Amino acid sequence: MDEPGSAHSLRASNRLRVIQALQLLGVTSRAHLARHTGLSRSTVSTIVAGLQAEGMVVDRDADGRAATGGGRPPALIALDPGAGFAIGIDFGKRHLAVALADLSHELLAEEWREMADDYDAETGIAHAAEMVELVLQASGADGGRVLGVGMGLPGPVHRSGVVGSSAILPGWAGTHAAELTGARLAMEVWLGNDANLGALAESTWGAGRDACGLVYLKLATGIGAGIVIDGRLFEGAGGTAGEIGHTSLDETGDICRCGSRGCLETYASGTAIAALLSRSLGETLTLDDVLERAVGGDPGCRRALADAGRHIGVAVANLCNLVNPERIVVGGSMGHAGDLLLDPLRESVKLRAIPSAAEDVDVVLGDLGERAELLGAIALVLHEAGSAWSGRAPVMQKAATADTEP
Ligand SMILES: [Zn+2]
Repeated sequence: MDEPGSAHSLRASNRLRVIQALQLLGVTSRAHLARHTGLSRSTVSTIVAGLQAEGMVVDRDADGRAATGGGRPPALIALDPGAGFAIGIDFGKRHLAVALADLSHELLAEEWREMADDYDAETGIAHAAEMVELVLQASGADGGRVLGVGMGLPGPVHRSGVVGSSAILPGWAGTHAAELTGARLAMEVWLGNDANLGALAESTWGAGRDACGLVYLKLATGIGAGIVIDGRLFEGAGGTAGEIGHTSLDETGDICRCGSRGCLETYASGTAIAALLSRSLGETLTLDDVLERAVGGDPGCRRALADAGRHIGVAVANLCNLVNPERIVVGGSMGHAGDLLLDPLRESVKLRAIPSAAEDVDVVLGDLGERAELLGAIALVLHEAGSAWSGRAPVMQKAATADTEP
């Protein structure tokens, strides 16, 4: 064991920082690595040269493709893509998606399946295990080099790994979902809720790239948020941070499913909007029906979405005062309403947040659409698995060389 603070342990910890940053950034430059790690350009260059000699880092051309040699020296680098893989699983209300990516962030295979309403944990995990086999086969990736699996669920996830009670997938409440999935796949599994994973994906690859402080709003049948500060997810003491749907707007309002009164969700969730319009139109509408009619010009549906945007803006204004984010990224199916929802939301934030917080923030639609949670599950592995693989990577690299030589 090295003494903490010795030159050797400092070199080792700087090397680990560079490897973890490469894992998060995918294809990148030495200059960006230096900014991201806070290390000097020369320290980064020395460490990268060492990693290249070990075969852990490869050159990439300006388009991010494998550098062919000849021409200008390649400016970009990435971890050797074949050295490890990350798998993401997104358990949605009516779908299941599985994807596999390499360490240069290239998506190699993806599978989607429709699921019956209210499928339970056992059924979901059995389907996921089949689909993991399919993506491994389709990509040709070696299952032994999977660094881990990220999984997302549309419900509260406690830091202990236990799924809280959820109106969206009630059959999962109380299960230790990551442990069950890990046992079935014989792989390490990290669990996150859908809003947190959407936040990670949009901050890594989407509309929140390079934002200093990002809040991802998942606006669908329920309302949740994921908060990323300095590139890291902020989860709070027990993993509950971001429950913006339960911001209290009226202490004498309707009782919410959480037990409190007048929560944002009782006014502005997809469920509340669909119920409001179903009542006044005398027919049963889903959120998708409302969105379709609103985009088609129906005045009542447009009004309901605009009011929802204003209500959501009240809660977002409060959040802006507390967290001062640079970007609010809107995802979830309500995002299909576009500026019908976003303009009143922006207006509401401008009216209610203190001026400096309102000036700093942009409210934009997410780039990743319905794939945000799936990609976020992969990002979760890239965030969490850093130290694990950097310790064993040189050994893995030797094995890779042996495999490919005649
Ligand atoms: Zn509530």
